[in-house]
Amino acid sequence: MSDTPAENVKPSFRSDVTVELVKHTAGDSDVLWAARVSTAGEQSLDELSKDPERSKGLINYLMRDRHGSPFEHNSMTFFISAPIFVFREFMRHRVGWSYNEESGRYRRLEPVFYIPDEERKLVQEGRPGKYVFVEGTQAQQELTGRVMSDAYLHAYEAYQEMLDAGVAREVARSVLPVGLYSSMYATCNARSLMHFLGLRTQHHDAKVPSFPQREIEMVGEKMEQHWAKLMPLTYAAFNANGRMAP
Ligand SMILES: Cc1cc2nc3c(=O)[nH]c(=O)nc-3n(C[C@H](O)[C@H](O)[C@H](O)COP(=O)(O)OP(=O)(O)OC[C@H]3O[C@@H](n4cnc5c(N)ncnc54)[C@H](O)[C@@H]3O)c2cc1C
Repeated sequence: MSDTPAENVKPSFRSDVTVELVKHTAGDSDVLWAARVSTAGEQSLDELSKDPERSKGLINYLMRDRHGSPFEHNSMTFFISAPIFVFREFMRHRVGWSYNEESGRYRRLEPVFYIPDEERKLVQEGRPGKYVFVEGTQAQQELTGRVMSDAYLHAYEAYQEMLDAGVAREVARSVLPVGLYSSMYATCNARSLMHFLGLRTQHHDAKVPSFPQREIEMVGEKMEQHWAKLMPLTYAAFNANGRMAP
């Protein structure tokens, strides 16, 4: 793959993350279908329409009593664009997840960098395990934007200089910061997604509160919106039972 000529490479700054649902086979009937083999043997794929109230009750029972495996017979693939530091946290989720990320060895990494917007609370108060984030001052906001963009541009110039001198991409990338955007496909099932959401989002229904970094939470919230539409009964049962993965 050939790189874009250096003169055409324009740095840009973002404050958001992108999450697209690129493919899926996921529905509430997948849960029912898998669960009912326990008591009734082979099932038809259209389980939901048989008795909607009973189906709802069964999904809630499975969630409440933590019968988790029926929630694994489905698949969702997301295309995610977010800063590298988000992906470092994301890829700690090992079970029920598959990842493929763009390569810094085979292509030039584009100069797209993260700068928090004014919604992102900048100041941490309290101690680890018991802290809150509060708004920064306007001066802190301006400082953060200025210092980050200066550092990013400086780092990218160093990267570019090495590439122009013929240094391999895999070596030159060492100077790039974790605020650089990357992209990946991430495939999961409803059970592994629920575990992720329980840890990486804050929600008033959560039985066990978590304190995720805001930027991975932004990714989680977008995945959650997609999933809620695909599996509304499972999603409702997840919330009703304290947002713990079964
Ligand atoms: C708010 C927050 C702060 C964090 N801070 C840090 C930090 O400072 N440093 C740091 O290194 N990480 C940190 N993490 C990452 C955290 O420790 C987990 O690695 C991450 O949340 C993935 O969770 P998991 O292992 O449960 O998920 P998965 O890897 O998807 O595993 C799912 C479940 O499978 C089981 N499982 C998986 N692997 C094993 C195994 N080897 N042995 C036994 N059971 C297993 C467990 O029940 C586990 O919950 C943080 C996470 C959060 C949410």
